[in-house]
Amino acid sequence: MITLALSKGRIFEETLPLLAAAGITVLEDPEKSRKLILPTNQPDVRVVLVRATDVPTYVEYGGADLGVTGKDTLIEHGGTGIYQPLDLRIARCRVSVAVRADFDYAQAVRQGARLKVATKYTTIAREFFAAKGVHVDMVKLYGSMELAPLTGLADAIVDLVSTGNTLKANQLVEVERIMDISARLVVNQAALKLKQAPLRRIMDAFASAVNAAEKTPEAA
Ligand code: AMP
Repeated sequence: MITLALSKGRIFEETLPLLAAAGITVLEDPEKSRKLILPTNQPDVRVVLVRATDVPTYVEYGGADLGVTGKDTLIEHGGTGIYQPLDLRIARCRVSVAVRADFDYAQAVRQGARLKVATKYTTIAREFFAAKGVHVDMVKLYGSMELAPLTGLADAIVDLVSTGNTLKANQLVEVERIMDISARLVVNQAALKLKQAPLRRIMDAFASAVNAAEKTPEAA
């Protein structure tokens, strides 16, 4: 049995065409079913639905043989026990710093300053501001980061930005782009040895599909 860990929403939707390229069809729609284990048209391949932040944990400890998760999640998870063979170039976005439009960010991040930052991405934020020589008081949040500068909880947020519409709707402005993000294929290292042939087949099909999508301009 091959077990693939995915999270609901964008990752699931954007992984479906890659699975199709490997001849795999998921037989149930996670938006309509409460099942956490979804069968596929291949009796020896199943999909497990887990929280995005749990995908690296499932793959690292062998609860899943492979998974799809964002680079942001992998950086925050840390650890070196997960093989990352492929950038799938899906679920693309960026990690950015945002502040209230009336906040003087340039003044706030001068060398040696102190900044109150609210984020779920504490590792990424800490490294970014450390490199700038800015002291950070970190406020760890698990959701709705946009609210923090509006309520005085923080001066700035570090969050994922895609279209920028969420920031705009909350009168926040993106002041720095920290890094570009896309989803990665992650593989359990022991499984890669024990189930080499079926895993290689899926990895190769994903790689070909990613390359084909890159060559098709309208897919970008
Ligand atoms: P947007 O309004 O398009 O800039 O999207 C921003 C919101 O969507 C934020 O709340 C982000 O946390 C979330 N978001 C954007 N891109 C992604 C992604 N690739 N994966 C997960 N969440 C995302």
